[in-house]
Amino acid sequence: MNNDLISREALKTTIDKFIGYLDEDMIERIKIAIDNAPTVEQRPHGKWEDKSIYEQFGNPPRNFIRSEEFRCSNCQNLPVKTIVNGCLVFCLTEFCPNCGADMRGES
Ligand SMILES: [Zn+2]
Repeated sequence: MNNDLISREALKTTIDKFIGYLDEDMIERIKIAIDNAPTVEQRPHGKWEDKSIYEQFGNPPRNFIRSEEFRCSNCQNLPVKTIVNGCLVFCLTEFCPNCGADMRGES
């Protein structure tokens, strides 16, 4: 089950439709449970920003990467790095490992 954002008032209005079918004390208990349900913080959105520094040299000029770097647009932290085939690479994950921002694009 995911943590969709839902309206407590809309849920209680729906529960009221069961008056006459369910015990009224039970309906009140369900409404209290709805009021006391934990809230879920909405996850921020972000994107991996390319902060790499490029250099041009050669004739004709060609672009080369002097330093490669990506940052989370929400918290400015670096992504996790790992070694693949002997090369250190950035893992541009779907969620920022530092702030939890959703990096899959705005929804
Ligand atoms: Zn972040």
